[in-house]
Amino acid sequence: MTSTPDMFASNSDSRHVVVVGGGPAGLAAAVAASKQGARVTLVEASDELGGQFWRHLPEERAGAKEAKLHHNWDTYVQLRDSVLNDDTCEVLLEAQVWAIETENAKSVLNVVVGNVDDGDRTPVRLYPDALVLATGAHDRTLPFPGWDLPGVFTAGAAQAFAKSERIAVGERVVVAGAGPFLLPVMSSLAAANAKVVGVFEANGIGNLRNWLLNAPWKLAGAAHKGGELVEYLATGIRHRIPYHLGTGVIAAHGKDRVEEVTVAKLGSNWEPIPGTEKRYKADAVCVSHGFTPRLELAIAVGCEILPTKFVKVNKDQETSVPNVFAAGEITSIGGCDAALAEGEIAGHRAAGSKRDSPQLRKAVRMQAVFNHFAGRLEAAHGIRKGWTKWLEQDTLLCRCEETKYGSFCDTISKTESSGLRSAKLTTRAGLGICQGRICGRNVEAILTQLTGDSAGDGARTDRRPIVSPVRLGDIANFGNKQPASFTSIESEK
Ligand SMILES: Cc1cc2nc3c(=O)[nH]c(=O)nc-3n(C[C@H](O)[C@H](O)[C@H](O)COP(=O)(O)OP(=O)(O)OC[C@H]3O[C@@H](n4cnc5c(N)ncnc54)[C@H](O)[C@@H]3O)c2cc1C
Repeated sequence: MTSTPDMFASNSDSRHVVVVGGGPAGLAAAVAASKQGARVTLVEASDELGGQFWRHLPEERAGAKEAKLHHNWDTYVQLRDSVLNDDTCEVLLEAQVWAIETENAKSVLNVVVGNVDDGDRTPVRLYPDALVLATGAHDRTLPFPGWDLPGVFTAGAAQAFAKSERIAVGERVVVAGAGPFLLPVMSSLAAANAKVVGVFEANGIGNLRNWLLNAPWKLAGAAHKGGELVEYLATGIRHRIPYHLGTGVIAAHGKDRVEEVTVAKLGSNWEPIPGTEKRYKADAVCVSHGFTPRLELAIAVGCEILPTKFVKVNKDQETSVPNVFAAGEITSIGGCDAALAEGEIAGHRAAGSKRDSPQLRKAVRMQAVFNHFAGRLEAAHGIRKGWTKWLEQDTLLCRCEETKYGSFCDTISKTESSGLRSAKLTTRAGLGICQGRICGRNVEAILTQLTGDSAGDGARTDRRPIVSPVRLGDIANFGNKQPASFTSIESEK
């Protein structure tokens, strides 16, 4: 769907809220802002709404059992129908925000709309009164010897294939890493008829103990999460999938693709315990060690980023930039419930309504519960420093630029610099086609371990002024054609 000149003409005095991201946080924000009388534009890069949590079969091949395969599917249907049937809410699908500029202290979004393979996407400029960023996260994967072999997937990619195509990435699959996300991935793979050899959670009982034992009543508002956990455990039992704590994949082996993996017991700091190695036959390995927030737009707009690498927000989900709000996984990793609550608050406030409105009571309560939940998740499942002990000198650190761990350490030692910019320029790590999305955080972590300096030169792997690949022709279209001028939207085609 593409913007049209008379869009919003009937209601042009109300506040224009642009929401970037059509996942749980963005959908909740769009609905809340519209309910408060704002004109809303919801911009989503994918061709479907739902984000990562509600990723589903495409509309033309809709699955009869879709509701059974997702948690909270009814909530999704309600939110989706609400934005699609709302005259004051415009939904732009296949719409990629590729850059944000600031003009006269206001954000200007540069968007290309249309199928990414078509080559003639429509350039659109948006001039919102308020902006809600709900861009979510992508997988964080730690490297290990052999992780560049075909057959090694991020758990998120495996989940995306399973949910949106019902395809399993292998026949005998190992699921490994850290965090509760391993369980839905296991479940989706089993539903797609893969044999899941085992789930290997790097954190042992010692790290996980505080998860429940420390003031469990604080988790009361999240009790339904217990139900989800029981469902996953039942799936594991039904398919006879062993779940191993304190164990990690430390190598993948094979000639042309993965044939076997080595797992080992890990200490509380994740250092592999010698003598505990065990080999499993597998043709695919799905690895996730958590998530990395997609911060590009937030950084481009000037939002303050916390030392934990999330967007800093106050209780109103307001960032450090006036009229810019953030919600969902770019503010913390708290799952779908957190994203929904934060999105609702962000949309409500972006539309100019007060936080103490009775309509927001439930969202405010859930925001508090799931902010607490996110903190516990990180404490129990967060990455521990000992992972670098399973690396070998020739393990690839940056797959795009083929920078090896050994040569990276060597160069840092020779340059005697703790600066990230210097490290990138001298080793090329993070300068390849993915622009550090896969290796960036790992490069930062190793650099800090080697130099003891976490601040470095203040450079960031997440600073990507051009957020996604965009054709030069698309960029030229913005300059060469004179876009028609609307109150808040400019579109040209
Ligand atoms: C690959 C992956 C799979 C996941 N699968 C599950 C799962 O099965 N179960 C589970 O409990 N949790 C899952 N999660 C965690 C899940 O992301 C959250 O629980 C929830 O979806 C977060 O909601 P959100 O709205 O913050 O982000 P998301 O759901 O990630 O939504 C963000 C949306 O923003 C869009 N977007 C981002 N940048 C731009 C841009 N520049 N222009 C336009 N659109 C943009 C994206 O296309 C995306 O649809 C997954 C996470 C990832 C990374």
